[in-house]
Amino acid sequence: MEDHRIQTIVIVGGGTAGWMSAALLSKVLPPTVKIRLVESEEIGTVGVGEATIPQIRHFNTTLGLDEDEFIARTQGTFKLGIEFVNWTRLGHRYIHTFGTTGGRDLGLVQFYHYWLRLHLSGETGPDIGEYTFNAIASRKNKFMRSPNIQNSPLSNIAYAFHFDAGLYARYLREKAEARGVMRTEGKIKTTLLRADDGFIEAVELESGERIAGDLFIDCSGFRGLLIEQALHTGYEDWSRYLPCNRAMAVPCRSVDEITPYTRSTARSAGWQWRIPLQHRTGNGYVYCSDYISDDEAAATLLANLDGEALAEPRPLRFVTGKRRKFWNKNCVAIGLASGFMEPLESTSIHFIQSSLAKLVAFFPDRRFEPVRIDEYNRQVQFEFERSRDFLVLHYKATERSDSPFWDYCRNMPVPDNLAQKMELFRSSGLVFREHEELFTDVSWMQVMIGQNIMPKAYHPMVDTLSADELRQMTAGTRGVLERAVDVMPKHMEFIAKHCRAPSVVV
Ligand SMILES: Cc1cc2nc3c(=O)[nH]c(=O)nc-3n(C[C@H](O)[C@H](O)[C@H](O)COP(=O)(O)OP(=O)(O)OC[C@H]3O[C@@H](n4cnc5c(N)ncnc54)[C@H](O)[C@@H]3O)c2cc1C
Repeated sequence: MEDHRIQTIVIVGGGTAGWMSAALLSKVLPPTVKIRLVESEEIGTVGVGEATIPQIRHFNTTLGLDEDEFIARTQGTFKLGIEFVNWTRLGHRYIHTFGTTGGRDLGLVQFYHYWLRLHLSGETGPDIGEYTFNAIASRKNKFMRSPNIQNSPLSNIAYAFHFDAGLYARYLREKAEARGVMRTEGKIKTTLLRADDGFIEAVELESGERIAGDLFIDCSGFRGLLIEQALHTGYEDWSRYLPCNRAMAVPCRSVDEITPYTRSTARSAGWQWRIPLQHRTGNGYVYCSDYISDDEAAATLLANLDGEALAEPRPLRFVTGKRRKFWNKNCVAIGLASGFMEPLESTSIHFIQSSLAKLVAFFPDRRFEPVRIDEYNRQVQFEFERSRDFLVLHYKATERSDSPFWDYCRNMPVPDNLAQKMELFRSSGLVFREHEELFTDVSWMQVMIGQNIMPKAYHPMVDTLSADELRQMTAGTRGVLERAVDVMPKHMEFIAKHCRAPSVVV
């Protein structure tokens, strides 16, 4: 029988995507598969990308990383959610947290329907965060991992991390090289294609070295060296839905307590991120160049930092969208080479992880059957599109009319699927997670309520409780959550005890 197995994988790029790919593939594939990675220090990496979502914990576990060591090595902190400031209207804030809201769901109906009845009857305000464990903990700057106890809000604390993506890549490089991944430093000059079918045969470096392979992973960043420049796969532009196309990024000194959440503050032509790490705070203004100049964006950013800027603002340009195919012939694009959506919900590093998980699930042989490739592309596309819709929701559901940028966002047409989701929620309070979409119904609900899409109705089953029972149940839930948060340590204390980075005083 002919042996069609993949023998050599070539990873192009050594940013977060390249080293995550190398670390995972060297861990899960048989050692007979040779993995080579080419990167160019002269070209460098994007170097921002510091906030994540809880799924990263599965990735780290698969790699066998020790969580405390990982945090200490990457100057990491913990993240319970994202606070959105000024998105709904100026002066307004809400938190989109990981995990659930309220206590246990009663019967088939989720807690928020009970909360909704209370709110619609005027007995509680519009902030469901008051009944959400992670939001209460965030506001008090508390964090801990779940202890081994049952039936408590503490038993299942959902969290992710903030970390320095450059240090993460370096950490993963050590792991990957220890498992035999061969790294080559150098600039790729040409990609050589097979004459008969246009598959990639090899990459050629400026030094003249040729690196051949069976499967090529394009982690070369926005330029898409293989997927676009060599294979001309094409790009689907989504800027009509997500008009921001630039960012200015700058780290600053931290001055206050290290918060266990990311902050996103809407500004006149976009929004500003604030990501607290152990040694500094990461900041950036994501904006649309039609509405603000680079100089004004940099000035706005610098005027809104917690502490002294530690560098000059660094400009970045992007076009929101995705490749027409993520996998084309024998090339799979991962990371920025596959597409980009702004970091509003910290999805990019997750897409790297998720694409890798799918690549492992659909791992090919040298016949590269089209049906396998098509299904991979369909699944990644689904995840990208549904996540895009979730981001668009933040811009569309705004009451802001104080700048031309927000006027555009409020009035822009949105994808049908999103329009339908918003309408269903507005009229009935119902929202469902579709298939394997990334964001859960609890996430959709929190952002819709946060952005003041307040449903006109709650689920009819809620009326099985009398008004008194409802009051008792919701007040009881809130009390339990608050008491549970009270016993938690401060986020900084937790870090200092378990995972302080060397040479940092927390
Ligand atoms: C403004 C901004 C904010 C972000 N914030 C977040 C966030 O909070 N959370 C999150 O999850 N993600 C975030 N991201 C995304 C995150 O930064 C990226 O997904 C991640 O860093 C992966 O980048 P990459 O490895 O795909 O590309 P890059 O970092 O660009 O790496 C590309 C690699 O390819 C190599 N290369 C390119 N051309 C050649 C060549 N010719 N020869 C040899 N080597 C070559 C380079 O040397 C480099 O090693 C953000 C991105 C941006 C732009």
